[in-house]
Amino acid sequence: MAYFSMKLNNLLQEQSGGCVAALNIRQFKFINEIFGKEQADQLLCYIKRTLESHLGEEEFFCRDSADMFYLYMTTASKNLIQLRLETIMNEISGASIYSSSNYRLLMYCGVVILENDHSTADTVMTHSLFALEASKGSYQNNVWFYNTQVHIQEELENYIETHMHQALRDKEFRLYLQPKINLKTGLLGGAEALVRWITLEGKTIYPDQFIPLFEQNGFCSKLDLYMAEQVCIYLRQWMDQGYAPVPISVNQSKLLFYEKDYVETLSKMVDKYQIPASLITLEILEGLAMENVEELNQKIELLQAKGFRISMDDFGSGYSSLNILGNLSIDELKLDRGFLQKVSAAERHRPKVIMEQIVQLTKKLGISTVAEGVETKEDEQLIKNLGCDFGQGYYYSKPISAGDFFSTFVSCHSKEIL
Ligand code: C2E
Ligand code: CA
Ligand code: CA
Repeated sequence: MAYFSMKLNNLLQEQSGGCVAALNIRQFKFINEIFGKEQADQLLCYIKRTLESHLGEEEFFCRDSADMFYLYMTTASKNLIQLRLETIMNEISGASIYSSSNYRLLMYCGVVILENDHSTADTVMTHSLFALEASKGSYQNNVWFYNTQVHIQEELENYIETHMHQALRDKEFRLYLQPKINLKTGLLGGAEALVRWITLEGKTIYPDQFIPLFEQNGFCSKLDLYMAEQVCIYLRQWMDQGYAPVPISVNQSKLLFYEKDYVETLSKMVDKYQIPASLITLEILEGLAMENVEELNQKIELLQAKGFRISMDDFGSGYSSLNILGNLSIDELKLDRGFLQKVSAAERHRPKVIMEQIVQLTKKLGISTVAEGVETKEDEQLIKNLGCDFGQGYYYSKPISAGDFFSTFVSCHSKEIL
């Protein structure tokens, strides 16, 4: 191993190119158990001989520990590397030592193609392990190439999971707001709270990068409640300064919605800040309705009894169903950005008719409509013609910090209203 990394370091200095592969046996510890240590040792010797017979003169390899092998090959083309490694792995898989049993030995492999920016043997080998880890997921002899994109994503996810608690403590999750414009009056009709994670170093991380992860690890419930509280605090300040408030929407994750004390927790929160619950709109996703419509409806009605408004987010983005409108007593429907894109881009008749009919239907049911993703004057005209009640999108404003929102949309307009 020491000799391997010394030789690799020399090659890296000379910028000779080629690749490094980390090669591993799937479930090696079971092989030890099933075939015994002696057979397993023989297998390792067999791998050594196979590697020797396949490597060229300037190529070399080592065994690190157990069943971990590193290879250096002069090949730099992905296809050729793949071919060579598959040949090697297939030969090892077919070895005679265990041919008497039905066991099919499988190997997997992580490859780094050497570019001039790989500084040391150490980093190259670590990167090959990253690729090896990625290839573990597939159940065939498998070759996986390290790529920086995968690595950057992994690093980000790792950062997110290890820093989320501290970030919540240190108030790194910030309240951003995007206005909803009343299409009849052209005035501010509400706003949506959207989270931004601004790290201590000033880097902004966007929700699409961490919300899906938080939904998996359960942290989303905490964050959503925190955001709801920030909205209450904000509305309180707003009212204390004598401005007429508008309803603010908060996104609620599925996990949170089904938590036992959910309704109570929210009610206590608005009471604490003395905010009328009608100023808080809870945005939920269609997916919630897939599971248990009855239970969902009960929750919705409990929340409405407390005064909260319920909005169905991203309608039309998934397998939307009109049953949702029939079965759930929602107050607001948000038409997904995709709707508007379809209607305006293709100038096709059908999506327009559908959108029009949905808007008409919601009107009859007493549900108000918000069109998302309004980006141009034409978009606005279109949704006005369709009869939507509110518009939200970059045409009016991107999501901006709570402070900017206050100076742009609140302090200059609505004092006289209160
Ligand atoms: P969403 O609820 O559908 O929010 C709207 C997203 O569309 C926002 O992205 C917003 O910046 C973006 N957007 C608004 N207007 C336009 C437009 O005219 N054109 C285009 N192209 N995009 C527009 P953002 O802020 O990155 O949020 C992404 C998603 O993350 C949200 O989608 C929401 O599902 C989720 N999210 C954000 N904050 C929270 C939160 O506090 N809790 C939970 N559970 N989810 C959140
Ligand atoms: Ca939303
Ligand atoms: Ca949405």
